[in-house]
Amino acid sequence: MKDRILIVGAGLVGSLWAVLLAKRGYQVEVFELRNDPRKAGFKGGRSINLAMSDRGWKAMERAGIKDTIRQQAIPMRGRKMHDTAGQLTFQPYGDQDQAIYSVSRGGLNIELIDIADQYDNLKFHFGYKCLGVVAEEAKAHFEHRDTGEHLTVNADRIFGTDGAFSAVRRSLMKALPRFNYSQSFLDYGYKELHIPPTTDGKHALDPNALHIWPRGQFMMIALPNVDGSFTGTLFLAYEGQTPAFDQLNTDEEIMAFFQTYFADAIPLIPNLLEEFRENPTSSLITIRCSPWRYEDKVLIMGDASHAIVPFYGQGMNSGFEDCTLLDELIDAHDGNWAEIIEAFNHSRIKDANAIADLALRNFIEMRDKVADPKFLLRKEIAAHFNKIYPEFLPLYSQVTFSHIPYSEALEEGHAQDALFEEILVLDGIEHNWKDNPEVDRIFR
Ligand code: FAD
Repeated sequence: MKDRILIVGAGLVGSLWAVLLAKRGYQVEVFELRNDPRKAGFKGGRSINLAMSDRGWKAMERAGIKDTIRQQAIPMRGRKMHDTAGQLTFQPYGDQDQAIYSVSRGGLNIELIDIADQYDNLKFHFGYKCLGVVAEEAKAHFEHRDTGEHLTVNADRIFGTDGAFSAVRRSLMKALPRFNYSQSFLDYGYKELHIPPTTDGKHALDPNALHIWPRGQFMMIALPNVDGSFTGTLFLAYEGQTPAFDQLNTDEEIMAFFQTYFADAIPLIPNLLEEFRENPTSSLITIRCSPWRYEDKVLIMGDASHAIVPFYGQGMNSGFEDCTLLDELIDAHDGNWAEIIEAFNHSRIKDANAIADLALRNFIEMRDKVADPKFLLRKEIAAHFNKIYPEFLPLYSQVTFSHIPYSEALEEGHAQDALFEEILVLDGIEHNWKDNPEVDRIFR
């Protein structure tokens, strides 16, 4: 008889992990705080859409749903920058056939739950809030959100996929005497704004790009949805600088802010004032912790063990990669969970910390550097040398279009920074980089 497995949280990572375990014949029970999104509609409380890249697609392939999800995904082949005068410039992410894909968070979550639900050896329990786990006994306590019913569930193993504010992680913190934990909020919040389709049902902006309005200390982005709309997201300081959310209180202040910085977006957001007032301003957190396991009985995954800021589009992708890596470890260790969990805990934490660093660094890149001519020149040179020396893979491509461990990508990123520090100060580099023996020498 295969192990009984309990998964806490049926978000993106928990529902994918449930599919992969059910596929292998484990007895899986999944407890989720929210009501069944297939009946109740999806209320995620987070971004409406997300960018899926190669690490996520690999996991979708493993679960057998890549083609289904791909049909509803919109390829974004590069960044389209909007300057304050409304002028547009395009910066490809990689080769012509490389793209990141905008997918609906709710649609993806429902699809994963639907697929998982087809297995007889898997059962979902919706509306149950995990109050905590007893790690040494692999048991968890739940309370039903409507009826108040209390339930204790025993298993052989528990996976905590209950997100950034994980109850399972809280219990690990108490059970393990030397549990390292840090959380840090960004001084910035985000607010989503809806860009509806045009009157003839089309996208109001080019749908095959991720739109960015980089404004130095802050920015707005927009990702396409399949219904012809876009979801815009404004990232802005809460307070302590100008502009900031705390200075945008009256209709006049909000409109003046948009007129100064995002004039070309105003006609795209017909309910701007209403949405600005009514949509929440949400916070952005980075969570790092270790270890992620209690013996072979409890393991936390996804945002529960490594929540990151969204600027590299890798939070979900890294959580999905957790699932891929664990699934590969099941094969490599012939189902020996003590070895699987130890190997995962040993190798993965440094990668989670690396993508946390990379995501923070990319905020500065997106809001500021994408509008800097030196940065654009660096991108151009990097793309050119990638064609000549394919082993030279720009950092963005390593993170987004490869499966290279994040910690190696970060290290390589530092090396590339040093390389470009030498190149970008060369005399007349803007004009002469193509046939410049000095640039060639540095690259070799
Ligand atoms: P979650 O999605 O948070 O799911 C956790 C689940 O656990 C939820 O269903 C919740 O209801 C449930 N739960 C919570 N507490 C309990 C409890 N006590 N008991 C039972 N159930 C519980 N990532 C990308 O890869 N690309 C992007 O473009 C991207 N964009 C983003 C934009 C924004 C604005 C934000 C905030 C995040 C973005 N992310 C992106 C990150 C991504 O949203 C997360 O990394 C991803 O949702 C993590 O999945 P998860 O399943 O670990 O956690």
